Amino acid sequence: MGIERMKRLEEQIRRCGEVRDGQVLKVDCFLNHQIDVLFMEEMAKEFHRLFEETHPTKVLTIEASGIPIAVLTAQTFGIPLVFAKKTESLNLDQETYVAEVYSYTRQKPYHIKVSKKYLNPQDRVLIIDDFLARGSASSGLMNLVSQSGATLSGVGVVIEKSFQSGGAELRQAGVNLHSLAMVASMSPETGVVFAPNPDDESKN
Ligand code: 5GP
Repeated sequence: MGIERMKRLEEQIRRCGEVRDGQVLKVDCFLNHQIDVLFMEEMAKEFHRLFEETHPTKVLTIEASGIPIAVLTAQTFGIPLVFAKKTESLNLDQETYVAEVYSYTRQKPYHIKVSKKYLNPQDRVLIIDDFLARGSASSGLMNLVSQSGATLSGVGVVIEKSFQSGGAELRQAGVNLHSLAMVASMSPETGVVFAPNPDDESKN
């Protein structure tokens, strides 16, 4: 079942993904602008299958493009979603956890914050995002989890660009990372080339 879902995701990316300058993949047709809710629900079920053994108590993402898949994933577990807010302000609010993230698509740093009310040491937190590139967004979210004293249950991303460093670094650090599609390379000429997904062999 897992392999079948992942193959359908690869087909969707091939069918309507657009490769942009700066190694950005646009998948506005189902993930980043128009949301194919039924298809995303299937992807959320896949995250449920991959992370159910970690018994998460909360899903965590960053606004805005992580929210739809994170909502659907939280729904499969019947747990709340917390989304980190982006802020331009450098003032640290006493009541929030704050971390810095370097935006891959905007090429500038920004701060993310989560109220201390919504992450606590009893939580097991599943981080969900749409893309993994150099890993700054995931690392920023992991930083918030660690500040709160909660346990990281894992990181799930819909599309990992495995030619960039983030995924290898997280795995090296022992993070329980699962990506539903792994892009090995891409260019406007060749389109998107996928890497074999380690989850295909390990759990299906
Ligand atoms: P990272 O922090 O891992 O370098 O980049 C991940 C974040 O940047 C994601 O939250 C995603 O919003 C954005 N991002 C990175 N690469 C891409 C891409 O190729 N396409 C899109 N649409 N977003 C990307």
